[in-house]
Amino acid sequence: MDLGRYMALCLGHPDHGYYMTRDPFGAKGDFTTAPEVSQIFGEMIGVWLADTWRKMGAPARFILLECGPGRGTLMADALRATGHVAGFHDALELHLLEMSPVLKQIQEETLKAYSPVWHAGLEGVPEDKPLLVIGNEFLDALPVHQLVRRKEEWSERVVDLAQAGGLVLAERAASQDIVALIPPSLLPPEENEVVEASPVLIQFLKGLCFRLKKQKGSALFIDYGYTFSAAGETLQAVSKHRHVSIFDAPGQVDLTAHVNFETLGTTAMAAGVTVHGPVTQNIFLERLGAGIRAAALCHNATESQEKDITESMNRLCGKDQMGALFKALAVCHDPALDLSGFHPVEGL
Ligand code: SAH
Repeated sequence: MDLGRYMALCLGHPDHGYYMTRDPFGAKGDFTTAPEVSQIFGEMIGVWLADTWRKMGAPARFILLECGPGRGTLMADALRATGHVAGFHDALELHLLEMSPVLKQIQEETLKAYSPVWHAGLEGVPEDKPLLVIGNEFLDALPVHQLVRRKEEWSERVVDLAQAGGLVLAERAASQDIVALIPPSLLPPEENEVVEASPVLIQFLKGLCFRLKKQKGSALFIDYGYTFSAAGETLQAVSKHRHVSIFDAPGQVDLTAHVNFETLGTTAMAAGVTVHGPVTQNIFLERLGAGIRAAALCHNATESQEKDITESMNRLCGKDQMGALFKALAVCHDPALDLSGFHPVEGL
């Protein structure tokens, strides 16, 4: 099978898929995400959402959709932080796109005050109101394919059975559908170069942009990845905070790939929406006021709490930590909207 199918099964197989069977987050789990590092992350997303809602003319009803909400921590922090924004909570209808029954249960607990509605894909999300969408570390979980340039042809990497047992990488001729997704900026390729492409991600984004144009609205994605298309393989497996082989214990280790923000941007523009960013996470959070919020929290904190706040801010924003590798990109139906976080702000 191709690597895309392998990744999709490893993560989402109904009985054996990684996300379907566990809560992977935190020090005792396999990896930690930004909302699990600090409440400030979700609070800043809350600021962005409320600000964007106002800029959209504060519609009386709208759909707030989170893609891949994990434990629901980001949304809980975002909604707590926006409790005082007049009219915002009354206007929102919370919808969650989630495939994991285990995580759904945790989200139900964390977000029950907001009566969320769950969906397996965009299809079920109501079409009759404006949309505000967020996704943190959602796109990196969507399956990627890997193409390898051999002489004058593209091969596609597939997963095969090794003679001695176990799984190995093999290659077969690549289909034209996948070859067509190679970013033009990577052509002509060098021999033996590896290029990743995600038809699932592109389909998802096209579907979302279609909805944003139809219903009006904006979507914000934060993830790790590269600003400009680059050759090379980034598909990786992580278990207990360490890199392992993608063939180690299929379904029991996390598989992700870096997100190509250039492809996100060009796909969204071709779908007729306006693109903001990408900007790095440290710049995005700083422009939304994360530093000011951290200072306010420190003001009332004990010495050890202050140390925690400073350390977690450093983790979110440090250039050698999540600050530079992670990027934020937003798309919007209305070219006139000036979405916060993407443009310089005086004094920040
Ligand atoms: N946003 C959270 C969790 C990120 S992990 C955080 O920042 O902590 C990825 C999340 O996306 C998990 O909730 C996982 O179950 C969900 N997910 C991954 N692939 C999915 C898919 N194809 N459809 C729906 N949800 C998916």
